[in-house]
Amino acid sequence: MNLDTMLAHLGEESHDRGAVTAPIFQTSLFVQPSLDALAERFNDQFAESDFYVYSRVGNPNLTIVQKKITALERTESCLVFNSGMSAVTAGILSSVRAGDHVVAVDTIYGPSRAFIRDYLPRIGVSHTFIYGADPLEFEAACQPNTKLFVLESPSSLLFQMQDLAAVAGIAKSRGITTMIDNTYSSGILQRPVEFGIDIIVHSATKYFAGHSDLVAGSLCCTAERARDIMANEGQFLGALLPPFPAWLLMRGLRTLRLRVDEAQRQGAWLFQYLQNRPEVEQIFHAGDPNHPQADLVQKQMTGSVGFMSFTLRDVDEHAIRRFGNALELFQIGVSWGGHESLMVVVPMHPMHWEKPNWVVRLYIGLEDPEDLAADLDRAFEALRG
Ligand SMILES: *Cc1c(COP(=O)(O)O)cnc(C)c1O
Repeated sequence: MNLDTMLAHLGEESHDRGAVTAPIFQTSLFVQPSLDALAERFNDQFAESDFYVYSRVGNPNLTIVQKKITALERTESCLVFNSGMSAVTAGILSSVRAGDHVVAVDTIYGPSRAFIRDYLPRIGVSHTFIYGADPLEFEAACQPNTKLFVLESPSSLLFQMQDLAAVAGIAKSRGITTMIDNTYSSGILQRPVEFGIDIIVHSATKYFAGHSDLVAGSLCCTAERARDIMANEGQFLGALLPPFPAWLLMRGLRTLRLRVDEAQRQGAWLFQYLQNRPEVEQIFHAGDPNHPQADLVQKQMTGSVGFMSFTLRDVDEHAIRRFGNALELFQIGVSWGGHESLMVVVPMHPMHWEKPNWVVRLYIGLEDPEDLAADLDRAFEALRG
């Protein structure tokens, strides 16, 4: 079966009475036909199966989305959590013990970075942050106790990349686990497992769900690792997705390909618009043919989406505020991946910049480009005061 067919149907074959859409299994508990059946299912509850015991560890609505996301990422297994952060923290915690060391890219998602920096020391896990554009930085940061590399490529503020195959190769030779946040690429534009990455996490809140109406996360890996994570972080932290948001996520996944295709067109349009604005100093966009890592985009990805950021020439805080407040169609908000266009301004000082700067991030939704252009024109006018 090809991907579009799988996103439309996979996991939904067994529902009876002719319902074309799977029902919502809004139940906490699954009762068993006999005590023997309960004992057998209890033994096997962390493996993928069509039998269920209790919704904290499994529910048919979860299975449906797990099968679709497994197909998307071409891994053996997938676990679906109640947020992207639950998937990120489960992936990290499953890979380290007290005394271990983590190497992470400096520009990963803020709360993931804060978890590594502020929380892991509490359980005796140390870390090193690196810029990550050169795979040799990973090698140089390794210590004898390094157990995990954390990547995000492209990242979601400055759209920086890592060479997945090279980094996975370094990790494999040292017995280190690799984990990537692949939210930007939505599984459609980049499949990290094909480059040897072990754990692939998504904020399913973004493109997977696609309509800004739920929070969820996914973690893809081998069946063996998924079973281990389910038996530990999955059941102990109680962070799996409940049935109703899982059902909404199923609905989002059905149109994922169509929305990502449209996002590619919208992104190309927005990039061209920004390139023509004299006020724009530098654009950060994975689809920029002059991106310093354009070769990696060629090698690892099949496209880019309508999610990019830029810096402005000669601006102070007041001008930035006028710009943001003049926008009407682009709403002010931190998330992305839904139907609505969004903007946010972030003061940034990543380790490879000499000085801090304001970064304007735009996410382009499904509105008409003409209306969005008029909105941006207004904001650029307001810059001048
Ligand atoms: C939103 C986001 C997350 C966190 O996901 P939640 O669903 O909000 O917990 C992680 N990584 C990236 C790149 C994100 O954009």
